[in-house]
Amino acid sequence: MKILDFDQENEYITKVNNLNKNKELNYHILTMGCMLNENDSEKLSGMIEKMGYKKVDEPKEANLIVFNTCCVRENAEEKLFGKLGELKNYKNETGAIIAIGGCMMQEKHILEKLHKSYPYADIIFGTHTINKFPEDLYNAILNRKKITDIEYIDGDIYEKMPIKREDKYRASVTIMYGCNNFCTYCIVPYVRGRERSRRAEDIIKEVQELANQGYKEITLLGQNVNSYNDGNGNKFSDLLKEIDKIEGIERIRFISPHPKDFTDDVIDAIKQSNKICKILHLPIQSGSTEVLKKMNRKYTKEQYLNLVKKIKEQIPDVLFSTDIIVGFPGETEKNFQDTLDVVKEVKFEQIFMFIYSRRTRNSSRYNGKSNTRRCKTRKIQQIKRTC
Ligand code: SF4
Repeated sequence: MKILDFDQENEYITKVNNLNKNKELNYHILTMGCMLNENDSEKLSGMIEKMGYKKVDEPKEANLIVFNTCCVRENAEEKLFGKLGELKNYKNETGAIIAIGGCMMQEKHILEKLHKSYPYADIIFGTHTINKFPEDLYNAILNRKKITDIEYIDGDIYEKMPIKREDKYRASVTIMYGCNNFCTYCIVPYVRGRERSRRAEDIIKEVQELANQGYKEITLLGQNVNSYNDGNGNKFSDLLKEIDKIEGIERIRFISPHPKDFTDDVIDAIKQSNKICKILHLPIQSGSTEVLKKMNRKYTKEQYLNLVKKIKEQIPDVLFSTDIIVGFPGETEKNFQDTLDVVKEVKFEQIFMFIYSRRTRNSSRYNGKSNTRRCKTRKIQQIKRTC
């Protein structure tokens, strides 16, 4: 993995600008998925606006339509294909450029379907080639050729990418990419690669610049933020402490930490700070040690509860939110009761509930008897009644 300056891509930003000279062009971007994807879309918007396009809310008013996709939810595929179908006539009539990126594009069966059934998509790019979007757009405009630009290696980190922030006071800052954990229900390590952390100095500089621009709240983003390690001796707690010192920043959040990496130094950094938000998101996924093992989460019910207890002792006003997956294959009523026990004990402020869905990539990793749809819905209702 290399850390590179985005500057080398500026050549293509200038080239696209020259191609588009004296034209009034619009773009529309649709973002699916998590805050990391939203942050990627802000970077895409930053590049696209530098190439002379103005943002519009309606795809059918745009000369460039970008889909930044997510592959975590099953219905995300239906949503993408539905939108593409709606745009077919518009594309034929206007010649608008359609670009599709994001983690869904890292899945080979999706690429095959796009090439076969939606050949009018002009640019298909992946999670590791966002930085090359100006070059891909330039080639699509100039040569009117279909471009597929996907890499299946862990990508490099690009610093100084243009970014168009959606909010004036709150900003998200990606501190790391990818994940090493391979939870058995999750596709992220396959589509976003292994963990790569940005240099602490680059992150601190970005936050300092945001503070100078008047931003008050920063959310640090990563698939597993608390395993941040930039290879120069800076851990997540060091980063929190440094960002805490930046004048002008009033609130710091981070998402998502992994319970197994919630070390004492991180707890201490939160305790010492007046800026770090005391509502911590601590995804449990299941309260059953048996299910957690099948999920490859690397902690038990007891370890999770002990962690919550330890954090509460150190930070008495702390509150928790969490993620829970119901209906993991083989989850029994007894397993589910363990989850309800944890919900009762921790008294989460907020629970994000997900119904397990078998994704193409992870289905071979764990095959247990599936819960029925009715059973999963009933479990969701039970959790709601318990909180
Ligand atoms: S830690 Fe999060 S991103 Fe990584 S594999 Fe597990 S669920 Fe997916």
